[in-house]
Amino acid sequence: MQTTHAIVGMTIAAPIAALSPELAGIVLLAGLVGGAIPDLDLYKGHRRTLHFPVGYPVAAGIMAVTAVVAPTPASIALTVFLAAAAAHCLMDVFGGGLELRPWEGRSDRAVYDHVRNRWIAPRRWIRYDGSPEDLGIATAATLPVLFVADGQIATIAATLLGISAVYVVVRRRLPDLAAMIAARVPPAARKWVPERYFE
Ligand SMILES: [Zn+2]
Repeated sequence: MQTTHAIVGMTIAAPIAALSPELAGIVLLAGLVGGAIPDLDLYKGHRRTLHFPVGYPVAAGIMAVTAVVAPTPASIALTVFLAAAAAHCLMDVFGGGLELRPWEGRSDRAVYDHVRNRWIAPRRWIRYDGSPEDLGIATAATLPVLFVADGQIATIAATLLGISAVYVVVRRRLPDLAAMIAARVPPAARKWVPERYFE
C-alpha cells in the first residue's frame, strides 16, 4: 500500500540517519517522498506513468556512485530518493496486480517495464495492497525509522502506520464504494476515471 512504500523509503534512509544524525531529517524525508512519488500516477496510467522498475534502480546506482565520490547532503538525499522509488516499483511486482479487487488475482499487470515495453506480471507474495502481511511489512519497517527519527518525523512515521492499520480494516470494502461512485460520474467526465473502476 502507499503508506508501506513511504515507510520503506524512510527505512532505506535509516542507516544513513544513524551514521550521520545531522543528515537524518533530509534523508528520511527524501526516502518518504521517493517511496510515495510513483503512485502519484494513481489516476492516470497507474503503475506505468511514474513507475520505472529499471530506470529508478539504474539512476539510484549512478547517483550512489556520485554520492560516494562527492558526498553532499543533496547527493546523498537524491540517492535515497531514487532508491526509495526503485524499492517501490520492486515491491509492486511482489504484490498483487492492477485491478479493482487484487485479491481475485485476475490481472497479469504489476508494473510497466518501459525498457522492454511490456508489463511485468505480479508475483503475489504479498497477496494485495492493504493485506495483513502488507501491514506486517509496514510495522517492521517503521521500527528502525522510530529508532533514528526525531519528534516530527517519528510522528509522521507513526501516523503513516496508523493510517495503514485503518486501510487494512476497510480495504476489501473500498472497491464496492469506488465502483458505486464511478457509476455516478457523468459520462462527459468518465475519461478521467480509470478503467478498472468500471469493472
Ligand atoms: Zn506503485
